[in-house]
Amino acid sequence: MKVLIWTRVSSREQREGYSIDAQMRVCRERAERQNWTVIREFQVAESAKRGAERLAFNEMFTWVRRNAKREGLEVILAHKLDRVCRNMKDAVRLQELEDQCGVKLAFVDNQFGPGASGALSFNVMAAVAQYYSDNLRSEVLKGMEEKIRQGWPMGHACFGYLNVSDKACPIIPHPEKAQTVVRIFELFSSGMYTLDSLGDLLIAEGHTFRPSYHRFNRTALAYILHNRAYIGEIVHRGVSHVGKFKTLVSRKTFDLCQDVLKGRNRRSSSPELPYQGGIFRCAYCGAMMTGERIARRHMDGSVVHHVYYRCANNAPPPDHPRLRWKAAKLEDAIVAELESMRIHDEGHAQLIRNTLTAAFADVVKLEADRRRILAKLRSVIRGRLDRLMNVYLDGAIEQGEFAVKQGELRVELADVDLQLEEKPNYDQKRGETALKLFDFMQNAADIWRRSNMAQKRELLGAISLNRLVSDVKLVLEKRKPFDIAAEGPSLSIGRGDRI
Ligand SMILES: [Zn+2]
Repeated sequence: MKVLIWTRVSSREQREGYSIDAQMRVCRERAERQNWTVIREFQVAESAKRGAERLAFNEMFTWVRRNAKREGLEVILAHKLDRVCRNMKDAVRLQELEDQCGVKLAFVDNQFGPGASGALSFNVMAAVAQYYSDNLRSEVLKGMEEKIRQGWPMGHACFGYLNVSDKACPIIPHPEKAQTVVRIFELFSSGMYTLDSLGDLLIAEGHTFRPSYHRFNRTALAYILHNRAYIGEIVHRGVSHVGKFKTLVSRKTFDLCQDVLKGRNRRSSSPELPYQGGIFRCAYCGAMMTGERIARRHMDGSVVHHVYYRCANNAPPPDHPRLRWKAAKLEDAIVAELESMRIHDEGHAQLIRNTLTAAFADVVKLEADRRRILAKLRSVIRGRLDRLMNVYLDGAIEQGEFAVKQGELRVELADVDLQLEEKPNYDQKRGETALKLFDFMQNAADIWRRSNMAQKRELLGAISLNRLVSDVKLVLEKRKPFDIAAEGPSLSIGRGDRI
């Protein structure tokens, strides 16, 4: 079946900039679903110029009268009734089209039942006025959905963002509150805070929620920590849309916070048992290691406290060994692991540093050479093109030959231009990063000894993905490139891209 699509937006809708796209989209989708062929589309945006819509309507009307039979047009498809006719006169004329040309009306959003679209009755028209006002709401919603599709959330921006009047970018990070959001995610992702203690800390750091209510209460924090807008998603009716506004939080940090919220990664904030609550896990059953503080009374009456870590699984499988580590022993094991990343021979370490520096300097130089050669090649080809043109103008070669040669040279030139446009595929900073990383690995154990508990947790997280404890040893499943470093000092350039 062949159809014509008619869309219209009022000047108000037009100012908002989304409705005509939305209408056209739903109409096309409907036509596609019905297997209808769209042979013509008319769209009219009411402009300040009066009568523009009248003209467009007449144009459509005339076109249908003239071409309907020849083109086999059967239906005019519009989003809603109010899009095709705004008054009685239009309705009568559309009725005329049906009577004379057999072209019926169809609506994507037809509230009048299936028969009504075909037989557009005066009763229906009487309802139009009512219909128009009733549907204002759904029209507004449609505009909103289109806004979301275009990557902008509707209504007020959430905490951390600011609504501005810039059409191209209506939502920007709030100069101060965005920092607060970043801080909230950063702190909470460490797993060391409850919503309450996080609220306390934020106040202490001078972050405020609202002028009338400074403290971030649990509800406010939970709402912020669950809000996917900060990673650039707009969730509407259960569907995520990609936002165009600037994100405030990385997906990794966001996911970490979700884990903490769900209790998957909740850690104790007890300063006496710093490694309990999931930072280490049992190598046998995967349960977290929990801390215990045990008091021992000596003969002389003095009391000594020992801290132990044990598998928290209260119903372990039968072959599960007894797992119990003294805090000091665990600490020693960590230091030993960190030491394993280090190259002890200072001469060897220096050699690696020099090799890294030289290798990256080479890469930079190679790229510079490559570009210089290409630039030279380009000027050579241009010179040839000029000479070819002169030879041709002098009449020394035929036009055919000239065209072929010129074509070849132009292809060559385009190829060189393309190569010059390419961005160098290496990061100049990578050499520096590799060096810093190397120095970090060299000093990891010392850094560890100088760190406070929070920094230690951070270090462990940065170096290792998982930290497993068996009854005899500690296994830090290291992240790249720490895994290579710990296995052997073969830090080659080829692995530089894994940093
Ligand atoms: Zn276990």
